[in-house]
Amino acid sequence: MVLLFMSHWHEPAPWRLALVDLLPDLVFRVWPDIGEAREIDFLLVSRPERGIFNQLTQLKCILSIGAGVDLIVNDPDLPADVPVVKLVDANLTRAMSEYVLLAVLRYHRQLPAYERFQRDGAWRKLAPPDTDQRRIGIMGLGALGRDAAQKLAALGFPVAAWTRRARTHEVISCYHGEAGLAEFLARTDILVCLLPLTPETDGLLNAQTFARLPEGAFVINCARGRQVVEEDLIAALESGHLGGATLDVFDEEPLPPGHPFWRHPNVTITPHISALTNPRSAARGVAETIRRVRAGVALADRVDLAVGY
Ligand code: NAP
Repeated sequence: MVLLFMSHWHEPAPWRLALVDLLPDLVFRVWPDIGEAREIDFLLVSRPERGIFNQLTQLKCILSIGAGVDLIVNDPDLPADVPVVKLVDANLTRAMSEYVLLAVLRYHRQLPAYERFQRDGAWRKLAPPDTDQRRIGIMGLGALGRDAAQKLAALGFPVAAWTRRARTHEVISCYHGEAGLAEFLARTDILVCLLPLTPETDGLLNAQTFARLPEGAFVINCARGRQVVEEDLIAALESGHLGGATLDVFDEEPLPPGHPFWRHPNVTITPHISALTNPRSAARGVAETIRRVRAGVALADRVDLAVGY
């Protein structure tokens, strides 16, 4: 049983250590030293090299190193009959929720204003915010969105989620599809994007979307940079319609020097770190998928190639 590891961003050593421990008969190869391509059963990958799928003709499963699979499903040579499995890992989910809570609470508790007051040496109190009046809207109620939404609801915020298909939840108000978007946005003071990048979500956070948010709303994007139309976001911040944005992902990464986000007073940026894959824990899910493929049983977290996530 041979696995090929292919990543530009992740070190192979911790994956090798964790996977060979869990699957002692696994042969772990690291791209570009692929050896005999026809021997490779599994590809563990963040971004496939162009043309690789034409070489790996005996693949049984493609495993994503991250929760996002857009770079895999957009490969023009992706075989239609090989399952693609996305990463779901409790540590990754927890890390994303920490980031979302941090960003939401920072806006909710008016920290950017207090940071300004401190710089000005001003002892000044703002009216305290009402948690039960601060409406949070999460785009995406998948592995990541659901956990963040539930944790925010547990803090007492009114939380809504927007999804592609109709969903129901005990404490989260659910909206879906194009028809539900305007209503969802109109009731959202802090918008969090946790959508996969697909043709439908590409450029979704644009001028029209921002205009539908209430005056002074905040935007937090932890999903994919392409989902935000960056000029539209800057225009909505400049006009004062949006109160601030926290961005972990960008159209171009690293964010180019001189990009207006770097110095914008109402933009907080982090370098795509909201939820980093932890090989030690993520390897358990990867090993379980490999066991399931070998046993011929149904796979959890299989990507639906027709919808792209
Ligand atoms: P997931 O489990 O696949 O869930 C996706 C959610 O988005 C589902 O609720 C789905 O709706 C909804 N959705 C998809 N297309 C939609 C559309 N056109 N309109 C409305 N809703 C739509 O994904 P996940 O594991 O939560 O991850 C979400 C994304 O986070 C990943 O794709 C990745 O890009 C990003 N991410 C970023 C980082 C980082 O460090 N910044 C780390 C990990 C992941 P249904 O429920 O109706 O299917």
